[in-house]
Amino acid sequence: MPSAAKGYAAQSAQTPLAPFAFERRDVGPNDVAIEILYCGVCHSDLHTARGEWGGTLYPCVPGHEIVGRVTAVGDRVTRFEVGQLAGVGCMVGSCGTCPSCREGDEQYCETTGLVGTYNGADAVMGGHTYGGYSDHIVVDEHFVLSIGHDEADLAAVAPLLCAGITTYSPLKHWKVGPGQKVGIVGLGGLGHMGVKIAAAMGADVYVFSTSPGKREDAKRLGAKDLIVSKDAEAMAGHRDSFDFILNTVAASHDLDTYLTLLKRDGTMALVGVPETPHDPIEVGTLVFRRRALAGSLIGGIRETQEMLDFCRDHGITADIEMIDMDDIDNAYDRMVKSDVKYRFVIDMATLRQAA
Ligand code: NAP
Ligand code: ZN
Repeated sequence: MPSAAKGYAAQSAQTPLAPFAFERRDVGPNDVAIEILYCGVCHSDLHTARGEWGGTLYPCVPGHEIVGRVTAVGDRVTRFEVGQLAGVGCMVGSCGTCPSCREGDEQYCETTGLVGTYNGADAVMGGHTYGGYSDHIVVDEHFVLSIGHDEADLAAVAPLLCAGITTYSPLKHWKVGPGQKVGIVGLGGLGHMGVKIAAAMGADVYVFSTSPGKREDAKRLGAKDLIVSKDAEAMAGHRDSFDFILNTVAASHDLDTYLTLLKRDGTMALVGVPETPHDPIEVGTLVFRRRALAGSLIGGIRETQEMLDFCRDHGITADIEMIDMDDIDNAYDRMVKSDVKYRFVIDMATLRQAA
């Protein structure tokens, strides 16, 4: 029997999020049902709820940084038991058989594409998937993660499910490690996780920011320094010196400014997905130093578990500001102004208590 669920949804790109009643599917043989305790607030939630990328299906219940407690498991579930802590990130399905899925890169599924935790096609209930701004969720075991952190840290673990893996995966892919100079562009939700993880991997980390006031935070998070991206002189001092730059900025901007800071053979990977295109890049900036401009999408399930374990072993969680469910539109407005230190997390008890 499907179960009644409570959530918060945007009914259109223009309307604020508001209470929304819907149904979750019955717990199938391979499914895990999770009572959601906390859900992080990703800039992708805002892009989607406000229709900035196009293609949003309404009503839209965002949220893909989900942590909570298992309340039921299907007959064939082997890795989870009732009462255990569990997490769900950005995906709840993929074809499972294409080369990318078989290699553990479900996010790059080549046939159906990944099934998003929200705004994806819901194969069981029909319509589209509803995300973590809700009281519970039912997910195939394959897409459920184990949480090894202390329960006291649970709210601060939630952002690892997207911001953590989206930064860990490219840092790992481009083999960031000791002796390397690594830049993180934008000190927001993704950026602050990128700093912590790259520093834990042993790199010398520098933050590029439009916010000079974030310098002390950048250092506290593990960076050597913060470079104000609008300060041309400070930027010029780092020309040809970076091995790798991870660009998390959520708005279109001039990429050449950063590409010129890469060494020969250096790479800048984009993870930010702005509403409008970036300025055109200068081809010469790439060819005269064999530099690369790349992109990266979240990370596979196996790698997400590896990231969670890495963060547990290195004592890494997110720096969070807890909000009530009905504060969400205010939180979105603050996120647009880069006024978040460094991830909003919704206390889902405030949704349960709401009438
Ligand atoms: P966020 O918390 O809002 O952080 C973005 C940061 O970018 C801001 O804090 C700000 O840092 C900087 N910034 C904002 N506007 C800027 C501008 N006009 N020029 C230069 N810098 C600016 O957002 P987030 O949750 O980290 O997400 C960042 C982006 O990644 C979003 O586009 C999101 O959709 C995308 N995303 C992609 C993936 C993926 O798999 N590729 C996964 C999750 C999210 P400073 O104050 O330091 O400048
Ligand atoms: Zn996200």
